[in-house]
Amino acid sequence: MENFLTAFLLASLVSVISFRFGFLTFSAAAAAFVFGIIIFGLGGLQFSIPLLLFFFSSSLLSKLRYARNKEVETYFEKTGARDYKQVIANGLIPSLIVCLGSVYNDGIYFLVYCVSIASVCADTWGTEIGTLRKAVTYNILNFKRIEQGMSGGISVIGTFGSLIGAAIISFSSLFWAGFNINIFLSIVIAGFGAGIIDSILGASLQIQYKCNECGKTVEKEKHCGVSTQSEKGFYFFTNDVVNLICSISGALILIVIYNLFL
Ligand SMILES: [Zn+2]
Repeated sequence: MENFLTAFLLASLVSVISFRFGFLTFSAAAAAFVFGIIIFGLGGLQFSIPLLLFFFSSSLLSKLRYARNKEVETYFEKTGARDYKQVIANGLIPSLIVCLGSVYNDGIYFLVYCVSIASVCADTWGTEIGTLRKAVTYNILNFKRIEQGMSGGISVIGTFGSLIGAAIISFSSLFWAGFNINIFLSIVIAGFGAGIIDSILGASLQIQYKCNECGKTVEKEKHCGVSTQSEKGFYFFTNDVVNLICSISGALILIVIYNLFL
């Protein structure tokens, strides 16, 4: 009971701050509040730290990138404050894992949980650090040069950012993972791998549109003030769906590594 009172207060605090500073829209803050209660309440400090680290570091990186490289923003499906669908895409899998972990009480759930967050953190840090300044960007599937900010694009700096994003989440789990270097590396590899899968899906199945006005390929249904035309990918395969698959694939990679090597 005491846990849930603390969780309620912490989730309220995070939601209010996020809304106040423009990290989240109102509906997104409400969704974050629900996930916050579940994760802080059932998972305690151990599960809260990786989530808070991911959330606040990514939000600050987005703000920083927006201030330095606004142009890239015109390609993204989502801009400015994150909406509730983005919160669900990033928070659903970790929340489900916390629930399972509280029922089955096995240490593997914490590791899988950390990877589900390390995966979306790798993806987010890859995007934010990769677009912090102008950088040569390639399509991950055919290595042709593409515009920075397009789905499925990778750059040297972004790939490095993605690796660091997975590593900081893994680092935050070290204390509870018994300072085990193999576990640390497994979480980094699984999270980074999921980030790669995210980019591959972004380059292949994710819906992309073409702007009839400026001719650019974008994630948005509107660009330059006019409706865009779908160019490739599946309509339901939005950036949110890709992120959801990203956290699931990270969890699966870790389960494979755990069973084979740990
Ligand atoms: Zn346009």
